[in-house]
Amino acid sequence: MPTVCCEQLDAALDRAAVVKTAANRIDDGRIINEIYTEFFVRGGPEGRYDYLGINYCPFCGRAISLGLWAAEKKK
Ligand SMILES: [Zn+2]
Repeated sequence: MPTVCCEQLDAALDRAAVVKTAANRIDDGRIINEIYTEFFVRGGPEGRYDYLGINYCPFCGRAISLGLWAAEKKK
């Protein structure tokens, strides 16, 4: 069973195409956008990656960011 929303995202995490980490723990690149999340699409050269925070799973479309979860709780 995947530990995330779907097997496709699980596989992407395995290959580090998508990374799950706390934003303040990223020390090998920079975060490009301002989304409150633990899921980032990583690109660019090794050692100075570009991290793009994502709100939704690119595969199944479920909300995965901390920001969206927090917004959901406030409703
Ligand atoms: Zn998914």
